[in-house]
Amino acid sequence: MSEKFLRVEHIGLAVKNLNDSIRQWTEILGEPPYHEEEVASEKVKTIFFQVGETKIELLGGTSPDSVIHKFIEKKGEGIHHIAMEVKDIEAEMHRLKSLGYTLLNETPKRGADNKLICFVHPKNTGGVLLELCQSIVE
Ligand code: ZN
Repeated sequence: MSEKFLRVEHIGLAVKNLNDSIRQWTEILGEPPYHEEEVASEKVKTIFFQVGETKIELLGGTSPDSVIHKFIEKKGEGIHHIAMEVKDIEAEMHRLKSLGYTLLNETPKRGADNKLICFVHPKNTGGVLLELCQSIVE
């Protein structure tokens, strides 16, 4: 078992219409989402469903120039990223960077659901946008 990576924290899905997707995922999982949050800096609204130890995060763009709209235009709706919870996000960012991976932000940034996050560019990961995250303990 990895001591550095603790679990798949959530899977992020890019959706065209948040309300339609909330309805659909509530129907599939048999339970409504537990959290919603707008990340204004990214022009994204996020909706979280708990699924056992992990979560499904729906991502809807709040403006036509949102990264989610651009993603859907290019690739269509579907899996946008996989988020892994790490023990020490700064240590993992340093480690992956020294191995040649491209990080999309140089310092951890604040993401939805009370997390510090960093994305790893999909060009190094076989096309998978990887999010590292660590819970903020306050
Ligand atoms: Zn995420």
